[in-house]
Amino acid sequence: MKYIQIGEKTIGIDEYRTQLFYDKKDVVNKICPCDYCQNYVYCCNRFPSELNKLFKELCINPEKANEVMEFFEDSRKKHLYASFYLVVGKVIKMIPENETIIDLTNEVSRLKKQNIIFDVSDVIFIKTNQKISPLIQVYLEISLPWVL
Ligand SMILES: [Zn+2]
Repeated sequence: MKYIQIGEKTIGIDEYRTQLFYDKKDVVNKICPCDYCQNYVYCCNRFPSELNKLFKELCINPEKANEVMEFFEDSRKKHLYASFYLVVGKVIKMIPENETIIDLTNEVSRLKKQNIIFDVSDVIFIKTNQKISPLIQVYLEISLPWVL
């Protein structure tokens, strides 16, 4: 187990099973051919450094979202996206003693100042046919340029 602190939440991640999950999973733009998904994947390599760090620590490949949604184009020609990722792990109630906890609260706060929302929860509202448990859902809301 790898322990991560984000605000008041502590999560325990099964690194091995999460990595296995992402090794097997296809990139979003291979599953869905729409322009919104293509654009999202192209933007993944220009994410802010705080976001890259969060994805790295959570063992997530950002190009392999479980679901990507585009809402609208704003006045600055940016597209508001929401995306969902899965991680094998659970929200921990009691923080275990003598375990290293990686605190990523500052990264999430710095993203919030850039209007990027990043949240983790054990409530999974994007249906998945994966028979993996327990699962944590990662929610990302971010405005991205159109780079196609
Ligand atoms: Zn799509």
